[in-house]
Amino acid sequence: MIEIAGLTKSYGATTVLDGIDLSVGQAQIAAVVGPSGAGKSTLARCINLLERPTSGTIAVDGQDLTRLSRRDLRQARRQIGTVFQSANLLRRRTAAQNVALPMRHAGLSEAETRRRVGDLLERVGMRHRANHYPSQLSGGQRQRIGIARGLALDPAVLLADEATSGLDPDSTRAILDLLTELRDDLGLTVVVITHEMDVVRSIADVVAQLDHGRIVEQGAVADVVRRSDSGLSRALLPLPP
Ligand code: ATP
Ligand code: MG
Repeated sequence: MIEIAGLTKSYGATTVLDGIDLSVGQAQIAAVVGPSGAGKSTLARCINLLERPTSGTIAVDGQDLTRLSRRDLRQARRQIGTVFQSANLLRRRTAAQNVALPMRHAGLSEAETRRRVGDLLERVGMRHRANHYPSQLSGGQRQRIGIARGLALDPAVLLADEATSGLDPDSTRAILDLLTELRDDLGLTVVVITHEMDVVRSIADVVAQLDHGRIVEQGAVADVVRRSDSGLSRALLPLPP
């Protein structure tokens, strides 16, 4: 579903991503881990085309996003939904209005927008909060609304950059369950960027570890945990009680 090859991103003389090769299958949850400054968010911004890669290719569903014209790019962007840390909701808009925003920008009809917003709020368990403002929601509820907004245009891929950081364990669990459900019910491909190994252990199918802009280890989580000699497998060991 996502095929990244030789992806490089530099800002001036600083190379932030250096030859990333990564593939994620449909209906898989991929976790990208690594220390602060490793390049995780930059990778996410390249995948959702907020940043132009310096070189390399990013294909989603077989279509190379780095070669598209401006117009095709806008269409292709719909394929990729994003949810950020602390959800980034507009404060002066209700939950429903926040979810509707991408649909309005895309020119969906009023009736279609209303129907889709209702369905998405239902799916993330937030229908009863439709008319609440972000300040009236808990952190976990805001993240749910952020996820609903990320799904507004029916993307094939959802990118979640630190979507659970700052949440308490119960809210984190609920968000992770929701992502798993979306993978299983909708066949959504999910890329989760996180520094929490618990998140990787509990929902990821595959994991890639970034360091200084390079992937230093990757594989299916089930395989990685069986490696006895790797840094990533040690990091994935559950903490002793
Ligand atoms: P964190 O875990 O702290 O969120 P990260 O892995 O997401 O870190 P990035 O935000 O991708 O890291 O940043 C990677 C590196 O790229 C950092 O050294 C950062 O300073 C640099 N960087 C990011 N954006 C820019 C930019 N627009 N111009 C110059 N350097 C940048
Ligand atoms: Mg980041």
